[in-house]
Amino acid sequence: MTAYDKLYIDGQWVTPVRGGTFDTIDPCSEAVIATVAAATEEDVDIAVKAARRAFDEGEWPHLPGTQRAAVLRRIAQGIRERVQALAEIEVRDNGKPLPEAIWDIEDTAGCFDFYADMADNFDATREKPVALGDESFSSVARQEPVGVAGAIIPWNFPMLMASWKVAPALAAGCSVVLKPSEVTPLTALELADIAHRAGVPAGVFNVITGFGKEAGAPLTAHPGVDKLAFTGSVPTGSAIMQTAARDIRNLSLELGGKSPFVVFDDSDLEAAVEWIMFGIFWNKGEVCSATSRLLVQEGLYQPLMDRLVEEIDKLPIGNGMDEGVLLGPLVNKTQYDKVLAAIARGQEEGARLLVGGERPAGMDKGYFLKPAIFVDVPEESWVWQEEIFGPVLCVRTFKDEHEAVRLANASRFGLAAAVMSGDDERAERVARRFRAGIVWINCSQPTFTEAPWGGYKQSGIGRELGEWGFHNYLETKQITRYDSQKPWGWYLK
Ligand code: ADP
Repeated sequence: MTAYDKLYIDGQWVTPVRGGTFDTIDPCSEAVIATVAAATEEDVDIAVKAARRAFDEGEWPHLPGTQRAAVLRRIAQGIRERVQALAEIEVRDNGKPLPEAIWDIEDTAGCFDFYADMADNFDATREKPVALGDESFSSVARQEPVGVAGAIIPWNFPMLMASWKVAPALAAGCSVVLKPSEVTPLTALELADIAHRAGVPAGVFNVITGFGKEAGAPLTAHPGVDKLAFTGSVPTGSAIMQTAARDIRNLSLELGGKSPFVVFDDSDLEAAVEWIMFGIFWNKGEVCSATSRLLVQEGLYQPLMDRLVEEIDKLPIGNGMDEGVLLGPLVNKTQYDKVLAAIARGQEEGARLLVGGERPAGMDKGYFLKPAIFVDVPEESWVWQEEIFGPVLCVRTFKDEHEAVRLANASRFGLAAAVMSGDDERAERVARRFRAGIVWINCSQPTFTEAPWGGYKQSGIGRELGEWGFHNYLETKQITRYDSQKPWGWYLK
């Protein structure tokens, strides 16, 4: 695609009713990369009505699962044919290094293939007999698509986050209105183009670009939406939940985290360094599941800190398009200023900045930040408790397993948690004591389409990915029959 100034509604590219636009910025050069259509309430209404028509009157929800699967596979194929181009758009829109973007785009295609398999098997498994305690009746439980899904996604993994919602929703037979983040809207529009070419019927998939208040909020309040799926910050998730509560709208939320990484002193030092870095510097730390609270057992603390500082000092920071770069610029000025403010706050709260936290020398343009490590972080401090969403690691020590688990779980969040130890039994035991939806042993962040994804506590409601992500877009119906043509005998004896 070359222009991004239209919305994709009902199978067509249309100008927003009020004609508004906004610019999306390359966080490396700070230059405008595209002018994008800004949807408002009127466009949301048109998109939801198109999705409603496609669901209520169209054939999509009633097609054999195998036919929807074929369309999803064509989408996956369309993405694979354009991996390099899509990854480059993601680098320019988000700032992430190209190899990470390529990984995201390949995963996006993989997600469509995964849910194509699920659609293939759906018809054979969607009805199950239910044993009743009365022989006069028989019953089946049947799964059906939930209807029109409104999907609102963030800017950290733009196309991948779209696929986590759009692929299972389409596989289930839903129609979708997708609103990408105004910070990174481009690949969602590319996905619309790919879906269109793959033969998704008009109205089944719609993309409206625009701001949270003007485009997101009307989508969450629209009576034509049956299900809302949101990934983003806790305050926005809470606002969406309040709106959804008004009409008792089905809702799933994937929100923030402040995930702990517990490292025991019998861990391999180099493996610990590698996974700690992956856990907080991958995607610039702009990852909801980032393991941003490091808990190190006392015996390993000094050697581990020395090695981390050594590695951070030589971490290649730069333009995500340049070979060898492992850390790109933060996504935009707003996020950059937020992270810098969090670093200043940590220092005011008495945490000690061991390394980083400033603009790297000689990099005057772009939202670049040298990764930061805070040590001696007070447990009650804001930087220990709250999500920073950037390459900032907070460290505390612990004496024993009991203290590690207590510190790890002392959070209002519960998205992810990681543990590393040379003692397998201990690692397995601690993994089971974490109050979090995603737990890693001897690693941090590897994410698989097959496995459930989501949080405990204020990190969200419901699970994405795997069969759990599919069930997000299904309703369950019972069909119960009276197995006789004669009166039952209550009124008519
Ligand atoms: P951030 O502030 O880091 O962009 P948000 O959680 O606010 O994180 O944004 C995630 C997504 O939610 C974006 O697509 C954004 O436009 C959307 N959004 C923001 N505010 C609202 C709202 N009040 N209602 C619906 N969507 C919103």
